[in-house]
Amino acid sequence: MLDPANGCNLGCASCANTSNKDFAARVLNAWPAGVMKGNTYSRIIDDNGPWAWVGHFYNNSEPYLNKNTHAFIKRAAQFRVRTSTSSNMSIPKLDVDAIVASGLDELQIAIDGVTQKVYEKYRRGGDVSLVFENVRRLVEAKRARNSSTPFIRWHYLTFQHNVHELDAAMAKARELGIDMFFVVTPIDVSADDPTVIAEAHPRAWECTHLTPIQPAVMNTDISPVAEDIERAFTEQYAERYVADDVAANGTANHCDWLYMATIFDAYGRVFPCCIGDTKGHARFQFGSVNGNNEAVLNSREYLAARSFVHGIP
Ligand code: SF4
Repeated sequence: MLDPANGCNLGCASCANTSNKDFAARVLNAWPAGVMKGNTYSRIIDDNGPWAWVGHFYNNSEPYLNKNTHAFIKRAAQFRVRTSTSSNMSIPKLDVDAIVASGLDELQIAIDGVTQKVYEKYRRGGDVSLVFENVRRLVEAKRARNSSTPFIRWHYLTFQHNVHELDAAMAKARELGIDMFFVVTPIDVSADDPTVIAEAHPRAWECTHLTPIQPAVMNTDISPVAEDIERAFTEQYAERYVADDVAANGTANHCDWLYMATIFDAYGRVFPCCIGDTKGHARFQFGSVNGNNEAVLNSREYLAARSFVHGIP
């Protein structure tokens, strides 16, 4: 999982990019704004591409603030990594053709209302007409290329102020040609804005398919990375995953994330999970691909965390 950018054009309540400066100062550890550079991404993908099977090109930010995100995703697809990202889609001049051409498998879009007044109560700074226009253009671009990807999944976060627009949103999703509609119960964000109250709707976690399900097709040319993949297969599984095996064989304390996933921010800093860097929980940084640490996935901090949770590094 990586953030192509640190930052967002919106400022939703309780997000790392909240526009509520008082809340941010009280709760969040500041992180540097900026976009991931090509050499930082190369260090990440060259090391992890042969082993990774899923790549999430988002975490705490808006990925399409970085114009190189399309190229990053394309490169990951060459390693047969299944790619997904998440966007607020409230971006002027969004290059929808490049999104389709990148080979992105899945795009989550976050829209919590169909009228501007309702939508912007949580999506601060967003423009719902621009969002719908971008989605319409994206679906058109998929049709023009006869592409079933990216699979588009609308995430609707339910709050007290927007549940009355849920049916209208589903109708809008059908009209736009979106593939799936997903009803999500958000976390409590009232510490940032007491008037934005999360609500668990009876249809919470309901996924509705709106278009025929397509078989997964891998049609990218992997020849440019074939040698890297072959070399990776010559390494021993046991040497790489012995600690994971022990953990899977009966240790009560268990955290898969310390073995199965790694999170990078736009500066190549490494974090053990997607939880935000909040005050009161210590700092989470476990290393950096731009530092001296060659084996970043076995950094001193990673080994210490695995020892703490599983009793072995
Ligand atoms: S759109 Fe997403 S990343 Fe941007 S401020 Fe809102 S929750 Fe955060």
